[in-house]
Amino acid sequence: MKSIYNQSVFILIILLFLFSNSFGQSKMELIDFETNLYGIENPNGGNIAFLVTRKGVIVVDAGSTPNDGKKIVSIVKSVTKKPIKYLILTHLHGDHVNGVSGFPRDVKIIAHADLEKNNSEFNEKDLINYTENILPNYLENLRIQLDSIKNKDSEAYNTLINEYNTNVDYFEDIKKIEFRKPDITFTDFFRLKLGDERIILEYPGPGHTFDNIIVKFSYHNVIHIGDLVFNNMFPYTIDEHGVDIYNWVTILDDLYKENIYTVIPGHGEIGEKILLKEQSDYFKNLAKKIERLKNEGMNLEQIIEKCDVNDYGLNGYESQFPVNIKVIYDQLINTKIEWWEF
Ligand SMILES: [Zn+2]
Repeated sequence: MKSIYNQSVFILIILLFLFSNSFGQSKMELIDFETNLYGIENPNGGNIAFLVTRKGVIVVDAGSTPNDGKKIVSIVKSVTKKPIKYLILTHLHGDHVNGVSGFPRDVKIIAHADLEKNNSEFNEKDLINYTENILPNYLENLRIQLDSIKNKDSEAYNTLINEYNTNVDYFEDIKKIEFRKPDITFTDFFRLKLGDERIILEYPGPGHTFDNIIVKFSYHNVIHIGDLVFNNMFPYTIDEHGVDIYNWVTILDDLYKENIYTVIPGHGEIGEKILLKEQSDYFKNLAKKIERLKNEGMNLEQIIEKCDVNDYGLNGYESQFPVNIKVIYDQLINTKIEWWEF
């Protein structure tokens, strides 16, 4: 069967996502929405949350690169003089963990028990490919384009040289990525107390990845849900990293029944509880359509052609749409679950 999409383009897109997109560096934005509890919306990687307590600060997620980690630390410092005590990592993806080496060494890292294994199995391999092949080739390509432009004062040259310089800096940054073994790990549930605060960490089973955890700021009715929610964007669904759409929907629907007011998604703007329902509905609607088309006798390729990306009203990571379809299609084939009866 001839694929209508190019596999190597997908791999590149996934790697760019996991190691942050160097082509559009925009600023992290501090969101002050609750007493002592802050969000950082990060357009170049995963969103961050931090809670300031009497005895120190707890940060959730580390950004995509060591420089991102340093930026997070300086944003925390702009709000409080208290030291960062704990760094919670929501899941294995590089755009949430690769900023770890930008944090002070004495910060205690907390993650799911499988994160370290998953990091060495997936991230390290991807990072080597990225730093030894993809990025050097990309820079070489830019260099050739720069050499071919005769007029060094032209706008085209200036645009390109800026892109080149940004990527050289980015390359230096990602070379400093160094994973740190978590100090505290758990498999199902962990309660963290600091000062007068309490945070509940839960592993709900695989959804976005094998190791995705939910961070509940239990005195605030706020959760950082990692990449179990992409707000207004197509979600990343990576088969090898343990994606399970059926369980993902179940996790979201269960959480929706809880007393939650604010949701900090892995990507996109921080929002209210409705984000949980919107993410769940996206998968349910798409899965319903795929099952209907499959029952009409269409194969995967025909289904991908028949589904219109514009029907879903999302505007980000559109390249993931056919990947979402493929993952749901494969899961429908491989399970006998009645999908729509949640
Ligand atoms: Zn992720």
